[in-house]
Amino acid sequence: MIRIAIANQKGGVGKTTTAINLATALAATGFRVLLIDFDPQGNASTGLGVARGARGRSIYQVLSGDVALADAAIATNVPKLDIVTATQDLSAAEVELAAEADRSRRLSQALDSAEGRWDICLIDCPPSLGLLTLNALVAARYLIVPLQCEFFALEGMSQLLNTVELVRQRFNPSLSILGIALTMYDRRNRLSEQVAADVRDVVGNLVFDTAIPRNVRLSEAPSHGMPALIYDHRCPGSEAYIALARELIARLPAPAVAA
Ligand code: ATP
Ligand code: MG
Repeated sequence: MIRIAIANQKGGVGKTTTAINLATALAATGFRVLLIDFDPQGNASTGLGVARGARGRSIYQVLSGDVALADAAIATNVPKLDIVTATQDLSAAEVELAAEADRSRRLSQALDSAEGRWDICLIDCPPSLGLLTLNALVAARYLIVPLQCEFFALEGMSQLLNTVELVRQRFNPSLSILGIALTMYDRRNRLSEQVAADVRDVVGNLVFDTAIPRNVRLSEAPSHGMPALIYDHRCPGSEAYIALARELIARLPAPAVAA
């Protein structure tokens, strides 16, 4: 199972939108995909139409060791896409796990136990660099960083890269950055263009060629409980996420693409 964390400690940069729509595009390609909602806000769960009342077993119980990951996963309306939901109580995990020796490996261990059930696992991280995001980075082989095309885009990037380096040294030497995805790109706005150019200057070939445009359809879809790719599969946002998924697959090692 290829494990990919989607993280950026900056809030509202498009992590969840990217997680939901990439997961959908990958499932449509034939992969068995698991999306882990790893944010107490539960936005990925809501966006995939799992109402709060329907989140019986969530990632919180998995981290606590009460439920196996495979038993917490539920099918979504998207064929081949399952989700492990998140609820508000996940925010308590940061505190509750603090004293446990294996606190940073809980998610990794849970995923080990479900090896073989899915081809790809995407982890939608919360907007912080706390214990939850640490668990995701320790569990993941790859990291995708959504970066919003606005003035402060690069601020915080060095902190994130430092964290990745620390995780590599102390916990997970195989963690690598699969790519940086530019989000909310507006080609009529010169700032967007300038930011995209600056980011490409600084982090070069890590940046995916596909920039996700600012597109109202992407922001409407979650309120209907479905991925934009199903809500309106021909809108520019959906087309961009399909292109991004194609790039993502091309960056994975060859055997992964056999699905
Ligand atoms: P958080 O840090 O709170 O978890 P996030 O990084 O997961 O946020 P999203 O929830 O994906 O970010 O996006 C933030 C808001 O911007 C949401 O309302 C979403 O619908 C909207 N949005 C995301 N991407 C786009 C886009 N390309 N075009 C228009 N709106 C977008
Ligand atoms: Mg989010």
